[in-house]
Amino acid sequence: MKTAYIGIGSNLGDRHQNCLRAIEMMREIPGCEVPEISGWYSTRPVGVEGQEWYQNGVACLLTRIPARELLESLLSIEERMGRVRRERVRTGRWEPRVVDLDILLFGGDVIETEDLKVPHRLMHLRRFVLVPLAQLAPNLIHPILGLTITELLMRLPEDGQEVVAIEE
Ligand code: ATP
Ligand code: MG
Ligand code: MG
Repeated sequence: MKTAYIGIGSNLGDRHQNCLRAIEMMREIPGCEVPEISGWYSTRPVGVEGQEWYQNGVACLLTRIPARELLESLLSIEERMGRVRRERVRTGRWEPRVVDLDILLFGGDVIETEDLKVPHRLMHLRRFVLVPLAQLAPNLIHPILGLTITELLMRLPEDGQEVVAIEE
């Protein structure tokens, strides 16, 4: 069994229900369990202007399947939930989405293939990832940077990335 961490985000439709539905669907992937979920956060979109805020969280996922197969299952969940993808090359920006499921970490593995890069290449720069991830795994070490999630969080510049805990 490998322990993976999945970043969950939604900024279209009923964001909270979308996040919960995505977790239900991850629980249905054969060979996967989701023992723990972070709290939820309302976050300002990074890198684009004028979009709805996101709901973000992180799920801990125990899995017997390889990373590549997990990615395919996650992309299939996004698709079944109605995510429409246009070429980012063409639009040049991150578009609003019903759901985004990213593999942040997959055990201590480092994967560098064309369509799968783990650790997620921007996770250490994103407050909306590090805050919920630190709730689940503060002492986990980033396999490339050699720093814990807490250390990565402390190193983030005070650049005003807004991440607000949602009261449940
Ligand atoms: P970002 O990567 O900046 O968070 P995004 O999540 O919006 O952007 P997507 O459109 O969801 O990007 O994904 C584009 C492609 O990224 C996917 O089809 C997948 O092949 C690739 N990809 C590479 N590494 C990962 C990863 N660790 N997790 C999920 N997708 C990945
Ligand atoms: Mg993403
Ligand atoms: Mg994605």
